[in-house]
Amino acid sequence: MDILLKRLFPICRSITGNGVRETLRILQEHVAIEIRELQTGTQVFDWTVPREWNVRNAYIEGPDGKRIADFSVNNLHLMSYSVPVDAKLSLGQLREHLYSIPEQPDLIPYKTSYYEPRWGFCLTHNELQSLKEGEYHVVIDSTLIDGSLTYGELILPGKSKEEVLLSCYVCHPSMANDNLSGVVLLTALAKVLSSTRRRFSYRLLFVPETIGALAWLAQNQDRVQMIRHGLVATCVGDNGQFTYKRSRHGNREIDLIVQRVLRESGKHHTVIDFFPMGSDERQYCSPGFDLPVGSLMRTMYYKFPQYHTSADNLDLVKGEHLSESISMYVDVLDALESTDTLVRVDARGEPQIGRRGLYDSVGGAVITDDQRKAIMWVLNFSDGTHSLLDIAERSGLSLPYLTEAARLLQEKGLLRNQAN
Ligand code: ZN
Repeated sequence: MDILLKRLFPICRSITGNGVRETLRILQEHVAIEIRELQTGTQVFDWTVPREWNVRNAYIEGPDGKRIADFSVNNLHLMSYSVPVDAKLSLGQLREHLYSIPEQPDLIPYKTSYYEPRWGFCLTHNELQSLKEGEYHVVIDSTLIDGSLTYGELILPGKSKEEVLLSCYVCHPSMANDNLSGVVLLTALAKVLSSTRRRFSYRLLFVPETIGALAWLAQNQDRVQMIRHGLVATCVGDNGQFTYKRSRHGNREIDLIVQRVLRESGKHHTVIDFFPMGSDERQYCSPGFDLPVGSLMRTMYYKFPQYHTSADNLDLVKGEHLSESISMYVDVLDALESTDTLVRVDARGEPQIGRRGLYDSVGGAVITDDQRKAIMWVLNFSDGTHSLLDIAERSGLSLPYLTEAARLLQEKGLLRNQAN
């Protein structure tokens, strides 16, 4: 993960362009992502796929001939989607196009202007303040032409056609936590999922934020009703505690599961309600779709001081934090996979569990009080309307206990899958 992160970090990504393609091609070395292209001008709901943006070079040459805000040194120096420029300007004229963060004078901010034809440079406030009067030569060797929007999609079919949607965005330039950590996490998760037996089908999306999610939704409107659960993966690589942002509805199965897994992990975490800012949950949870999609993060966007600056770099994101986040995602997916709705083979009265060797011991091991309780709860509430998750919520018992009890009871022929 560290190697992949380091390789992806320097690439200049935006909502369109070769940076996204190169990123997806590198990911294809690990997982079989399909790359899709949607032409400039394509209407996606209220939006239109913009012209494609690519950059060869960009810098400002000062009166002393020295280059500042050089794109080849740090791609954050150039405002994303800057139109091509070759002009000589006074410092006063130039300043209107310069961006810095006075409160964080050593950091370069991240700025974009996707839908308004502008240009700009971002630099540290210290550097901005040190600029002397004189003539500046501005060079932005970029292209904005009819091309396409690129996104990646990976489908891992399971036993059921019902889907789990996992989405991340691939449109940020050199920033590690916001954007890239989610990309690396989903790639690693795809590898784990590929080698396991799956009940659900999984759809992993690597899309430019907002316009990419909208583009996918617009093309898959007949498919969205198959999405049973979903998560947006972002900001998962810092050392902060976990944050779960609920789906719009707030108490869908995905919400209950993630909260349960976080609670059972014993790790400090925060749960927050849905709000209509942030990442692509805004599109998936727009009222016309209202999908059961939450977002599992560590420190949330907006909340870490390095957010949208040059300090969101490889010092902030570490493989060890990413791997802890992956484990948490794996636990969530395990829980999603295991919470079945079962039904009694014969629901009249309690079955005699002692006769089946389930009262005092199982396979030679002494049964604990909670295990016995789990058996009784599963037997009573497996009526075809309560899932194991519902039973966990109602009983206060842990989901792994209940899924184990359900497994035993199925083995003894007392429970069956509703569909069978
Ligand atoms: Zn961002």
